[in-house]
Amino acid sequence: MNLYSEAILEHSKYPSNYGTLEDASVSHEEHNPLCGDRIRIELHIEHDTIQAIKFSGEGCAISQAAASMLTEAIAGKSLQEAKSFSKDDLLALIGIPLDKNPMRLKCALLALKAFKMGLYGVGTTLDDEDL
Ligand code: ZN
Repeated sequence: MNLYSEAILEHSKYPSNYGTLEDASVSHEEHNPLCGDRIRIELHIEHDTIQAIKFSGEGCAISQAAASMLTEAIAGKSLQEAKSFSKDDLLALIGIPLDKNPMRLKCALLALKAFKMGLYGVGTTLDDEDL
């Protein structure tokens, strides 16, 4: 079985939205100690929309490719849409079955975790009534 689909190889070689934002509204980093992956997600939010998203970090091909795919999927979305972007959505983009491979699943979901943690950190006061 080939764990590395074409899409993953392509994204890990030529990642989208790699870098940092000068005017980030959100900057949040997560680690995956099992694999050594590190992903920082930076967002520029204006008018309840994700105007810009960048990621930086290092790690295995899956973690970096998933971050690249995530940023492509999230850029330009409203906060509402971005919050409803699920791990199933991301796994569908990655396109390889990871449910039997919890180690690799952690790699794949690291960027989404960094993104959601950062996003919910900022939106906490808005979301109080939902708690
Ligand atoms: Zn990894």
